Amino acid sequence: MTSAEREIEILLTDPPECGRCGRGCLLSARVPHRWQNESGRDVVGLRQVVLCQVCDRGRPGADELMALFAVDGQVGLANMEAFGVLVDNWLDEAEQKAVDLDHLEREQELWRRGEL
Ligand SMILES: [Zn+2]
Repeated sequence: MTSAEREIEILLTDPPECGRCGRGCLLSARVPHRWQNESGRDVVGLRQVVLCQVCDRGRPGADELMALFAVDGQVGLANMEAFGVLVDNWLDEAEQKAVDLDHLEREQELWRRGEL
């Protein structure tokens, strides 16, 4: 998926605190998120993804995006294209992680019910 196919809202000013460590984040993004509710209907909402200098360190997509901030200091016309590519990579990575967590939760639920 690329940003051409999804409406992503990037917040660079006044990003929220990291939900994991409570520190201020570098940036946050609101990404459309689709899931099925209990009656099996598709629901579309927005999911907030944050980039935290501490918690996201060590993940390639996040590291590259942090490196851009470290070198350029800010996002402007000169680095907008590079920024867009890095944001895409970072969000793909973040979504991958979210999917893994969903998968893990389902397995845990099965395990609790003794079905695994
Ligand atoms: Zn954090």
